[in-house]
Amino acid sequence: MSNNQRIYLSPPHIGEFERPFVSEAFDTNWIAPLGPHVNAFEQEMASYAGTQGAVALSSGTAAIHLALRLIGVGEGDLVFCSTLTFVASANPILYQGAKPVFIDSEPGSWNMSPQALERALAEHAAQGKLPKAVVVVNLYGQSADFEPLLAICNEYEVPIIEDAAESLGATYQEKRSGSLGKYGVFSFNGNKIITTSGGGMLVSDDLEALEQARFLATQARDPARHYQHSEMGYNYRLSNVLAGIGRGQLRVLEDRVEARRRVFQAYYDAFSDVEGVQFMPEAAFGRSTRWLTTMTIDRQAHGVSPAELVDALAAQQIEARPVWKPLHLQPLFSGCPYYEHEPGESVSDRLFENGLCLPSGSNLSPEDQYRVVHLVKACLHPVTSAAGNS
Ligand SMILES: *Cc1c(COP(=O)(O)O)cnc(C)c1O
Repeated sequence: MSNNQRIYLSPPHIGEFERPFVSEAFDTNWIAPLGPHVNAFEQEMASYAGTQGAVALSSGTAAIHLALRLIGVGEGDLVFCSTLTFVASANPILYQGAKPVFIDSEPGSWNMSPQALERALAEHAAQGKLPKAVVVVNLYGQSADFEPLLAICNEYEVPIIEDAAESLGATYQEKRSGSLGKYGVFSFNGNKIITTSGGGMLVSDDLEALEQARFLATQARDPARHYQHSEMGYNYRLSNVLAGIGRGQLRVLEDRVEARRRVFQAYYDAFSDVEGVQFMPEAAFGRSTRWLTTMTIDRQAHGVSPAELVDALAAQQIEARPVWKPLHLQPLFSGCPYYEHEPGESVSDRLFENGLCLPSGSNLSPEDQYRVVHLVKACLHPVTSAAGNS
């Protein structure tokens, strides 16, 4: 019956708690921006993340932008950033007129390579050109390895902006993902583990800085009866209606994490005996949410590329995606410096060439997941004669 229904990569999954919160906003006419749900959502997020405070914003991108502004990143400054990520991690660097320098992944977590970061910082320190900030991204539901990353950044006194847009619900050692940098960033875009349809959150222990973020996010209006402005601001706040959705979603976050991990486990069980297929490793330092189940496929063994698999799945109404195209390979960032995991060894290039993200929604039914597994298996033709093909 549902045989031709489209299967999405990571669709929204609304539960039973969102509607009452949204109704309350309607019933009390708190439709206008800000209101009690925004304040409550901020408190609930700060308490969840284990930070002193939080500011609800219109997107994760806005949160990264404000973090850069608060740190004082400006024209011509350098900002280091993970290369294997969505473009939103780095676009705000350009908004500020600053220059990104991209840092490779390490194979153990697919996140920022401490050794590449170390090399990049040492080289830049020697030239007296330290970056103003480092944007560390937690990819596909898993934290980066913050202990060494923090040690290196502390040594050079460079603050970290933690892009936890994809890792809400994950842990690093005993801490919540998003609480490890000077600033943490969450996203509630429609494809994330919980959603407000669109939205974001900036978290930090620096309450004064967060107050400044609120100020900048509401057009930087000076405390005066008339409209007076001394600084350039933005319209970046989250609305009270959407904060209501967020409050409802936050209540089921743990369920969503468990569901995504179950989806991962089912893929893992289905492919664990297939040679040349591997999954993004879960590092020992914490819990991944498995926001997206991501596999690498050995092309030599299977004679099929991730791009071909994406097309084959799309033809059957199944949405899959290659792994993020690294930012150092993007035309937008051509000419930006890039530091590989080891000189001559770019981990992110390899992951992009071989990586595939599978439908991973917390509402993916076992029947639909079986459809995906079945089709991927059908596309993997073992090229047994490849070894003797020369
Ligand atoms: C989704 C995402 C963002 C941006 O969040 P928005 O709320 O869509 O602006 C930033 N970084 C990463 C890694 C993301 O996946």
